[in-house]
Amino acid sequence: MGRKIVILLGHPGVGKGTQARAIVQHLGIPQISTGDMLREAIANKTAYGREAKEKMDAGELVSDSIVNGIVSERIKRDDCKKGFILDGYPRNVSQAETFRKLVKNSDRLSVIELSADSERLRKEKRLVGRLMCPGCGEIYNEFSKAPRQDQMCDLCGRQLIHRSDDREDLIKERFRTYHEETYPLTEFYKGRGLYHQVDGMRPINAVTEEILNIIDKKKLMTPVTDGGR
Ligand code: AMP
Repeated sequence: MGRKIVILLGHPGVGKGTQARAIVQHLGIPQISTGDMLREAIANKTAYGREAKEKMDAGELVSDSIVNGIVSERIKRDDCKKGFILDGYPRNVSQAETFRKLVKNSDRLSVIELSADSERLRKEKRLVGRLMCPGCGEIYNEFSKAPRQDQMCDLCGRQLIHRSDDREDLIKERFRTYHEETYPLTEFYKGRGLYHQVDGMRPINAVTEEILNIIDKKKLMTPVTDGGR
C-alpha cells in the first residue's frame, strides 16, 4: 500500500501547525513543517540558515532549491514510509511541481486548504499572540489558547517563545506573500481533483474532526486526472 500524504494549505496563522499536530496523533504519520526545519537550520547555523533567516525576517519565501532539498531528504527517512503530513510545503506552484515528482502512483494524496478570513486573523491576534514551545513544538496563543502557567508549556514545562517573524510589522508582508505565491496552489490542486476546503476559522476540535473525516473517507485519494500529481 502506498503512503498516505496530507498537504495542509492555508493562510499564515490559520492553524496549519496546530492541526498537523492534532492529526499526527490520529494517523500515526509524522508532521513535516518546513518552517520548523528552517528555524532549526538557523539555530544550528547551517550553511543555508543565513539565507533562510534573511528571507524569513523579511516575510518572504526561502528559495525553492533550499526548501525542496530539505523536504526531499526528510521524506526519505524511515518514519515517512507510511506517509507524512506536510505543513507549509509546497508554498508555490514551482515547489508543487517539484513535489509532484516525489509522489509515487501508489501514494494516496489529500490536499486540504484551511480557509481563513485574514482580517479576523489579524483582529484575533492569531500571529502576534502566538507562543511556541521550543522543546516539543506545542502551539499556544496568549489570547485564545493560553498555557495553564504563564509562558510555560503545559506538556513539557519549557519556557515558551514568540517566533521572531510573528511581528505586527511583518504580518502584512507575510499575508501578501501568501496571496501572491501560495494561494494559486488551490487552483493547481483543484485542477487535479485532490483538493478539499475546510473552514479554518471554526474551533480547533471542529476543524480537526472535519479534516479527519475527509481523510478517513478517502474522498481524495485517487486523482481524477492522469496521475500527474
Ligand atoms: P511557517 O512556519 O510555515 O509560517 O514558515 C515561516 C517562514 O519560513 C515563511 O514565512 C517562509 O519565509 C519560510 N518558509 C516555510 N516554508 C517554506 C516553503 N515551503 N518555501 C519557502 N519558504 C518557506
